[in-house]
Amino acid sequence: MPDKKTLIDTLEMQRTLSKDEFAELISGYNEENAEYLKEKASETAKRYFDNKIYTRGLIEFTNYCKNDCYYCGIRRSNTRVNRYRLSREEILSCCREGYELGFRTFVLQGGEDVRYSDEEMVCLISSIKETYPDCALTLSIGEKSCESYLAYRKAGADRYLLRHETANAEHYRKLHPDSLSLQVRKQCLRDLKAIGYQVGTGFMVGSPYQTAEHLAEDLLFIKELSPEMIGIGPYLPHHDTPFAGEKKGSMELTLYLISILRLMIPNALIPATTALGTIHPLGREKGILSGANVVMPNLSPVAVRKKYELYDNKICTGDEAAECRFCLQNRMKKIGYEIISARGDFVPMQTM
Ligand code: SAM
Repeated sequence: MPDKKTLIDTLEMQRTLSKDEFAELISGYNEENAEYLKEKASETAKRYFDNKIYTRGLIEFTNYCKNDCYYCGIRRSNTRVNRYRLSREEILSCCREGYELGFRTFVLQGGEDVRYSDEEMVCLISSIKETYPDCALTLSIGEKSCESYLAYRKAGADRYLLRHETANAEHYRKLHPDSLSLQVRKQCLRDLKAIGYQVGTGFMVGSPYQTAEHLAEDLLFIKELSPEMIGIGPYLPHHDTPFAGEKKGSMELTLYLISILRLMIPNALIPATTALGTIHPLGREKGILSGANVVMPNLSPVAVRKKYELYDNKICTGDEAAECRFCLQNRMKKIGYEIISARGDFVPMQTM
């Protein structure tokens, strides 16, 4: 097996590695290799995006969920969650505030809430797109039928975020109850791609039972799917889940994987996630310096922020939308980057 720096050089040139090589690169993590990889990844991000950072206004519009993922704080079985769902007017008011703050992408994220019928979602999507025709709309509402995805797309939704969570079926079993399967999740991602969404997938780093081989499989799955967006963050425990006692993921390994992903898909939109900002006060800045190019400040009303607690100690739960926006703008400025107001669509390689 070649040494790690040679593997990194090969990754940069070929934009992929074999499963064994990825596993070797991951398990062989050390600070020196991480620094070497980070330099290449941040140079690549600069080459494609200069020092520009795209921003997305995140609206966490419901914390009701029919699923029972073992890692997630808003899982169905967590009876201690104070459940909420925002009305259409409340969501539109978040968009209004976001628009004034310069956001041109809104992300509607929520648990899999059965109370929102397809008709209601279509109506909501149409209202947002009619009111803000110059904005992109991203959905992140889990697994749906191909027909539902199609209806949302026809109503104007542009993008869809659905993390695959882990590309290894056995590992998937250990993170989810039997009602959920990797096969269905992968099918949803393929449907979304076929319908013409800009698709985002991703995984948690350091989720319980995860190995370097699993992560290598995640990378190869991402290479094959070729998503426009890739979101990864460290696994963080939530005290009211079956995984409450599990240890959290590593920030260093998350940053290392962001760099690997940047070299794999140089033009991808990769956020420095809230989980990264939660695990370390400068986590998002480190994410950007490792090759990420998107931040997602929260636009949800402050009254509901704490209720969307996927993991313990989630940051930004007390700040108004404007505070979040300007806080991130300053943070980016301090490290030499600039948040821009553009929609920030994915641009295919040949047209860049
Ligand atoms: N229901 C939608 C879905 O499943 O795609 C969107 C909401 S879901 C809560 C968003 C993401 O949060 C998941 O894809 C998962 O990776 C992440 N997440 C959930 N619990 C987490 C935890 N304990 N630590 C870190 N990330 C977590």
